[in-house]
Amino acid sequence: MFKNLFQQDANKREALAAGYVVPDASRCVQCGICSYSCPINIDVRHHAWQGLPVHNSQCLTCGECVLRCPRGVLRFERTNLFVEA
Ligand code: SF4
Ligand code: SF4
Repeated sequence: MFKNLFQQDANKREALAAGYVVPDASRCVQCGICSYSCPINIDVRHHAWQGLPVHNSQCLTCGECVLRCPRGVLRFERTNLFVEA
């Protein structure tokens, strides 16, 4: 159980360090689980349908939508904000 908690914690840290959620529209079946799972009601399904990244300043990068999508549609893409050019 502790191992699970630690793993969840590690996943969360990784998600927080990442940038934003990006969909692979071709895999999405529009089930809506992602939108349903989002704690702040971002319509992730709509983004997935359009194939658009979730560029929403409200996004907590909690990773719930990524973890719960049954089709593996969603992933985090890192921003380059902290990378020196
Ligand atoms: S949970 Fe996955 S398959 Fe379902 S609507 Fe969201 S992105 Fe599409
Ligand atoms: S990462 Fe969290 S807050 Fe952001 S869209 Fe997904 S479920 Fe919502």
